[in-house]
Amino acid sequence: MNTNELWQAVLGELELSLSKANFTTWFKSTFISGTEEHMIVIGVPNMFTKAWLEKKYTKDILRSLQELTNGSIKQLTYKVESRPTSPQAIPLFEKPEVVQVTPPIPSYYQPKGAEVKEIRTGEFSLNGKYCFETFIVGKQNELAHAAAQAVSAQPGGIYNPLFIYGGVGLGKTHLLQAIGNELMRKDPGTKILYVTCERFTNDFIGALRSNRIVEFKNRYRTVDVLLVDDIQFITGKEGTQEEFFHTFNQLYQNNKQIVISSDRPPKAIPALEDRLVSRFECGMLADVGSPDFETRCAILDTKCQEKQYQLEREILHHVATVVQTNVRELEGALNKIIAFHQFKNIRPTLETVKPILSSFQPTSSRKNVTPKQLIITVATYFDIQLEDLLGKSRQKRLAFPRQIVMYLMREEMKASYPSIGTELGGRDHTTAMHAYDKITRCLLEDEKLQHDLELIKQKLYVS
Ligand code: ADP
Ligand code: MG
Repeated sequence: MNTNELWQAVLGELELSLSKANFTTWFKSTFISGTEEHMIVIGVPNMFTKAWLEKKYTKDILRSLQELTNGSIKQLTYKVESRPTSPQAIPLFEKPEVVQVTPPIPSYYQPKGAEVKEIRTGEFSLNGKYCFETFIVGKQNELAHAAAQAVSAQPGGIYNPLFIYGGVGLGKTHLLQAIGNELMRKDPGTKILYVTCERFTNDFIGALRSNRIVEFKNRYRTVDVLLVDDIQFITGKEGTQEEFFHTFNQLYQNNKQIVISSDRPPKAIPALEDRLVSRFECGMLADVGSPDFETRCAILDTKCQEKQYQLEREILHHVATVVQTNVRELEGALNKIIAFHQFKNIRPTLETVKPILSSFQPTSSRKNVTPKQLIITVATYFDIQLEDLLGKSRQKRLAFPRQIVMYLMREEMKASYPSIGTELGGRDHTTAMHAYDKITRCLLEDEKLQHDLELIKQKLYVS
């Protein structure tokens, strides 16, 4: 073990007991700058950090250092010094077996914008707050939750890989991390690697650039559990897909557990190689959906208890009624309410809460889109003429996009059926109703259609 590895391990442990903000603030640019017999010198960026670490964290750091070195380190000092791009690794011990888990250094240890010289070790950012105890189970996520628990009970078992998918803010990261935390708790020696797809990609590219592909492979292919968050971002990255495919196979063959999250099912990820789709589908697919009203209430209830804040039933129900999209927004709304009322030092009432929630009204955060814009967007997306889209022809190539327009007008703009008929060249309202039902039904099964609609909405609201 060398000093870099030792420090990474110490940081990995500290990170578990600190909030992310605290951890980043105080430990971001630290490193081991030197050793003397039984003493370690820690390089810190400024006096302020030095004073703070001395006062607040020396005990924890020392304890961790002692554990990791079997007691050889007895003392600790700090020195103000800027962190070299790649701190010199000083060999520490002959016998590497004293090393337990060495959680890799988190990504934000790399100076921002610095070229990746050394291989960026993967992220060990398991956040203790994301555990099963704090996860509320409702109909929309019970399958994913049960699968995640099964994986924690028996990693590498029947649910391998576990693929969890669903929209933003619905608890995917929470579940991935809960698996990691649970396994860590049961056996702190388990090698768990949690990475976002982006991290994996960057690590891979960095390794290629710096000729350290062997280290990269070692890191990723020797873990017991690999948790990859937001895999949809692998779309179109052929080299990364290739590498991930081999990583996957290696782990899978050795009965190592793989858990993946995505915003959509494997088949619906654009430009994802077939062989990866079939790998992802060969274990367990579980979706997470938007929480229903009861679950939203339960989540608010729990979060209030966690924050030791009391909210009357009536208000809680109101929040759960207004904020429907996802759990992240639900939490955000609650935080806003708490902050506002604590600041004003008043008790929340419906009257004081309502204005705070106005920004959470469904679709209010979106750009206002006119029917005309929608029609043009759909026509462009399917590459058909506006007149044809609005015309009478019943050719499938025209009729289907037309029905999509009607569906989106209803779904996204809450337009009435008669007005939809009018917008689409004076059609009857029953035509609009029929179109809405048809697309709703198709959406249940047709993943390509789901994907098309996602893209259309993105074009509509984002660009
Ligand atoms: P995703 O990764 O799907 O975008 P996250 O896992 O980041 O969503 O969840 C967003 C926030 O909502 C997190 O703070 C998470 O703890 C919380 N959250 C999501 N689902 C639940 C749940 N079922 N119970 C409690 N908290 C939840
Ligand atoms: Mg996430």
